[in-house]
Amino acid sequence: MNHYISPEEILRKKREYLIPCAYHFYNQPMQLVRGEMQYLYDSTGKEYLDCFAGVSVVNCGHCNPEITKAICDQVNTLQHTCTIYLTENIVNLAEQLAQLTPGRLQKTFFCSSGSEANEGAALLASLYTGSSEFISLRQGLHGRTKLGMSLTGLSMWRTDNTPVGGINFAPNAYCYRCPLDKKYPECDLACANEIETIIKTATSGKVAAMFVEPIQGNGGMITPPLDYFKRVKSILDAYGILLIVDEVQTGFGRTGTLFAMEHYDVEADIMTMAKALANGTPVGAFTARAEIADVYTRPGASTLGGNPVTAAASLATLHYLTKHDLPGKAAVLGKILKDGLTVLQQKHPIIGDIRGLGLMIGVELVYSDKTPAIKETDLILEEMKNRGILVGKNGPNRNVLAFQPPLVITAEDLHRLLNNLDDVLSSIKI
Ligand code: PMP
Repeated sequence: MNHYISPEEILRKKREYLIPCAYHFYNQPMQLVRGEMQYLYDSTGKEYLDCFAGVSVVNCGHCNPEITKAICDQVNTLQHTCTIYLTENIVNLAEQLAQLTPGRLQKTFFCSSGSEANEGAALLASLYTGSSEFISLRQGLHGRTKLGMSLTGLSMWRTDNTPVGGINFAPNAYCYRCPLDKKYPECDLACANEIETIIKTATSGKVAAMFVEPIQGNGGMITPPLDYFKRVKSILDAYGILLIVDEVQTGFGRTGTLFAMEHYDVEADIMTMAKALANGTPVGAFTARAEIADVYTRPGASTLGGNPVTAAASLATLHYLTKHDLPGKAAVLGKILKDGLTVLQQKHPIIGDIRGLGLMIGVELVYSDKTPAIKETDLILEEMKNRGILVGKNGPNRNVLAFQPPLVITAEDLHRLLNNLDDVLSSIKI
């Protein structure tokens, strides 16, 4: 029998020893001590169906035995060198990414987080174009480093009060609350067209790149219309501006395709990745077309980037994802979840909007006048947790329920989720 310190004691130590920006969910948080595929267990032995996957990280499930074995085998053989020595996992992983990523993306740099990947991608774009101006989207999130935060268009995550300059924000394709007060498709993608106005009126005319997320995760699961990114890309191409696609949260099967940009049939010039690439082992990467990547020739190393253990975890993750067709499963299961949520929407008017692709689905909760139902979102999260189901929340107002389970979840699990959500929504008084 394991003896764990209590959640109260963890909270006390957290208050005393962690920088307070490390916020947590729930009024009464539990201590998680173990994971097994789509399940998590707390220190009392209570089981939770995980429908958040640590924000789209453990796409192949918690402690997936095949991935864990690959990690342990590598840890027991060679844990770390550095890119100054030759090891084979890093090049095999880069080769696989070149094969699996859409379009002509070919050469990769490995690091240890999504923020670092976006920093690196921005550097590469600057080296290639000779510019350090960027365009980003409102409600986007690209990291917590100086530049990553400056590229972030979501005020909750913009703590830095002296952000980097030269970044302009374009209105996002948030059709439920259109920032331009228009309606799709009559709008003719006015939000995308706005990018051209920004380039012409608010920049020097020489912009390095535009950062986008195929679905804005933290921004509230904002899912642009399928023709949106084609328009964006054609505008950027006309001005010689690179498209950097941040697949940190959407990548690796999450949305029903290996990479979310495949839904939009648009080729990224640089793609950034992290989170699910190594199924929970710290990882980050950016990959680019060869002609772009090849301008980065001065020595640039990340001490832990592409280390043998992380690369082994990533190789095992890619193998598992493809062997079990988890992207295909996410597409099928995502439809079950979305259909079930649509049925609930008829019964519960608090469900204002349902959006997303595959198993990356957001449910925006609102009052009858469409104002965000913030308090109710928290109540639902807490009550679902008490019932043994973990759901996330995001969006600028924190009123969007986020469903991003491990892709190994089953249809039966999703029905359990839907039944419990139905009960909890019925018990909520507005
Ligand atoms: N980009 C996106 C789209 C993200 O969701 C996140 C993390 N939530 C990041 C970048 C930053 O990644 P990391 O926390 O690994 O630095």
